[in-house]
Amino acid sequence: SIVTRFAPSPTGFLHIGGGRTALFNWLYARHLGGKFLLRIEDTDRQRSTPEAVEAIMKGLKWLGLDWDGEVVFQFARAGRHAEVANQLLAQGRAYRCYATTEELEAMREAQRAAGQPVRYDGRWRDRDPSEAPANTPFVIRLKAPQTGETTVNDQVQGAVTVANAQLDDMVLLRADGTPTYMLSVVVDDHDMDITHVIRGDDHLTNTFRQVQLYRAMDWEVPTFAHIPLIHGPDGAKLSKRHGALGVEAYEAMGYLPEAMRNYLLRLGWGHGDEEVISTERAINLFDITAVGRAPSRFDFVKLANVNGHYMKEATPAHLLPAVTPLVTERLGRALTDAESALLLRALPGLQPRAKTLVELAEGALFYFKARPLVLDAKAAAMMEKYRDLVSQARTALETQSDWTAAALEATIRALAEQASAKLGDFAQPLRAALTGSTVSPPIFDVLEILGRDEACGRIADALA
Ligand code: GLU
Repeated sequence: SIVTRFAPSPTGFLHIGGGRTALFNWLYARHLGGKFLLRIEDTDRQRSTPEAVEAIMKGLKWLGLDWDGEVVFQFARAGRHAEVANQLLAQGRAYRCYATTEELEAMREAQRAAGQPVRYDGRWRDRDPSEAPANTPFVIRLKAPQTGETTVNDQVQGAVTVANAQLDDMVLLRADGTPTYMLSVVVDDHDMDITHVIRGDDHLTNTFRQVQLYRAMDWEVPTFAHIPLIHGPDGAKLSKRHGALGVEAYEAMGYLPEAMRNYLLRLGWGHGDEEVISTERAINLFDITAVGRAPSRFDFVKLANVNGHYMKEATPAHLLPAVTPLVTERLGRALTDAESALLLRALPGLQPRAKTLVELAEGALFYFKARPLVLDAKAAAMMEKYRDLVSQARTALETQSDWTAAALEATIRALAEQASAKLGDFAQPLRAALTGSTVSPPIFDVLEILGRDEACGRIADALA
C-alpha cells in the first residue's frame, strides 16, 4: 500500500502552493487507499516557529486534508539522522572531511578563476584516516559515485538524468554534529515508509543527491513526482506582489474549502474540460501521472467563479455554521436561536447573490438590524417617491391572513392593479423600507421570512 507525505518547513503560513502540494499527496493516497502523513521540517531553528506549525495544521484542517497517524517533527529525529551518517562512515560509504572554511573558499576561488564549475574536489575522499589532524573539526561527506549517471524516473517530469561527475560529495553531518537537510529528508522518508514523494519541482535538482544517498544505504528509492510551481496571472512565480499567498487569507475572504480544493486541483490536474470536480470525484479519478508539466497560473477570477458555483450548490445547513460567525462579527452580537432559524430560511434567497461567505454575510445583515433601519440614499429616495403606495400596502399587509410569499405577492399585485400601477412601484419602495437598500432577494420572500410583526414594523418606521 502506498504512503505519501506533506513536509512543510514551518517558517510562515501555509502557502497556497503548499496547500496544492498537500492536496495532491492527500488525493493520491485517498485514491489508492494508502496513507497521507505530515512531517514538519523544523530543522532550521532560527526560522521555525510554533505559530507557523499551528498555522500549517490549521490551514490543512480548513482545507479538509486530514493526515494519518502522528505528526513527525524532523528536528526531534536529529539523533537518528546522525546515526545513519555514522553507519555510512563505518561502512566506508562516507568519510570525514577536515577541510577548513578558508581552505574551501580558496578552492572555490581557484575554480572560479579557472572557469571551472565550483564543487568540492574530494580532497579528503581517499586520504588515510591516520592523516587526520588532531583537534580539528570535520564534516561527514557521502562518498558518491564519480562515474556513471543518476536517473530519476519522475512521474511528472519523465526520466531526468545527471552525470555523477557533476555532483560532488555532499555533506551529511556538519562539524557541529547536526544533519544536513539532504540527510534528514532521505532518512525520514525511508523511516516513514514513504513510497511516493510528491513535491514542488524546485526540489528536482536535490533529488539526484537524495537518490545517491538511498543507494548508499541500500534503501529502496521512492517514486518521485515533481509538480510545477504555481505562477501568478502574469506568468511570474507566485509571490507577495500577486496578493494573498497564505491559505488562511482565502478563508478570511470567505472562500469555501470545497471550492478551494476544486480550484487547487485544477492548477495542474484536469479531467477533460471539467471545471467543477467534487472532491469525491477527484478521489476517484486523480492520478499523479496526469499532472501537467507546464506551470499553471493562479487566476483569481476563476477562483471566485468556482466559489460562486459551490455557494449556489451548497445546502443552507452546510453554509449556516460557516456564515454565522461572519454575521455575528459584523453585527457585534450573537444570533438568537430564532434568528439562526431565520437565517437558515433566508439562505436560499441569499446564496445566488453571493460569490463568497463574506458577501453572503453582508447580504444577510439587513434581516438582523435593529429598528428603525437606516435607509441608504437610493432607498430613501425610492421610499419618498412611492410613499402613498407603501401606505396602501401597509394597510393591506396588516390584515393579510396568509403570510406566505405567494399569497403576499397576490395581495400586492391586486393593489397594483387597482391603483393602475406597476408591481415594481409597490415592490421597490417596500424593498427599501424592509431592507434599507434597493437590492435584495425577491421581496415577497423577504416579507415571508421577516414575519408580519417585523415587516409591518419596518414599514411603519419608514412611513413615520
Ligand atoms: N520542507 C521542504 C519545503 O517546505 C519540502 C521538502 C520535501 O517535500 O521533500 O519546501
